[in-house]
Amino acid sequence: MITIDGSEGEGGGQMLRYSAALSLITGEPFTITNIRGGRKKPGMMRQHVTSLEAAALIGGAKANGLAIGSSELTFRPGAITPGEFTFSVGTAGATALVLQTVLCPLLLAEAPSRLVIEGGTHGMAAPPFEFVERTFLPIIERMGPKVSIKLERPGFFPRGGGRIIVDIAPAPLRAIECMHRGAAKSVSAKAIVAGVPSDVADRELVAARKVLSDWPEDAFAPEQLPADQGPGNALILAAEFEHVTEVMSGIGKMGLPAEKLAKTAAKRMAGYLTSDAFAGPYLQDQLLLPFALAKGGAFTTVKISEHTRTAMDLIERFTGIGFRIGETPDGTISIETAA
Ligand code: ATP
Repeated sequence: MITIDGSEGEGGGQMLRYSAALSLITGEPFTITNIRGGRKKPGMMRQHVTSLEAAALIGGAKANGLAIGSSELTFRPGAITPGEFTFSVGTAGATALVLQTVLCPLLLAEAPSRLVIEGGTHGMAAPPFEFVERTFLPIIERMGPKVSIKLERPGFFPRGGGRIIVDIAPAPLRAIECMHRGAAKSVSAKAIVAGVPSDVADRELVAARKVLSDWPEDAFAPEQLPADQGPGNALILAAEFEHVTEVMSGIGKMGLPAEKLAKTAAKRMAGYLTSDAFAGPYLQDQLLLPFALAKGGAFTTVKISEHTRTAMDLIERFTGIGFRIGETPDGTISIETAA
């Protein structure tokens, strides 16, 4: 039984999701205390409960303390059973983070799975749909498995109501080297609005262009969704290279000026583009679990995040697999699985 203090390191929901995934994969039970102890409102929120319920369901696990507001949980894994599952967050909580919890266990299962996940697809502090589709999953596919994802309906904060469908064809994860992003292929900036005035999208595109001034004019485009899918607004910036596509996003919320949202997202993209790294700040922590399971491989990245350090610690505690952080001759940070 592994005991985790959920207030350590990054101190957020990621510790809970990663622990559940690692527990299913290794068969090791765990107890976590002080859940989300590093957050203003500690304890499990709806989205964390759904992620853990999903993990318990696909992994025949027994979970004590699984409830909204709970700050302590004991999780005893059973056997991973692939199949067809529907998980519903019930709020705008991120569908991508439910997927983050169950994907790796299901990648190692004996048979394919189909997941229908309902909740948010474009929310704050979580991977937007486009990031999962264009940034994360193509790397998983290079490692062996086939995973396709479809956006049936977007879900914005606070209403949610989004729906994604994920088809997972498992295969052993093979170690890959992701040291270079390769040649630049294309860039795009899409400002999505649903039930929000179209000038919000236009203002975001103007502000993003000021920062990404060398992007061609036709790379910037608004996208108006039916009003009944909103209210919602997201700015999705994508830079496609030969070996990776990075997606940076800004999510609209009441009181956040369109210009500010766009400037922040565009600066994040500009920061990534000035580096030579393969993985941006979010892809970084999300690659660790699949790379550990592949028992090898390496990637280059930008400044190491607290999410990454916390995930590294958890992975090492459950699997004994560590990571070496180094520097490449051209000055980029590298992360290598030390199996
Ligand atoms: P909490 O509410 O406790 O912060 P959480 O469960 O919502 O918890 P985190 O623990 O902060 O979230 O984990 C968020 C995850 O989402 C991380 O894996 C992070 O890399 C990813 N993420 C956050 N923002 C983005 C983004 N803009 N693009 C891609 N991935 C993102």
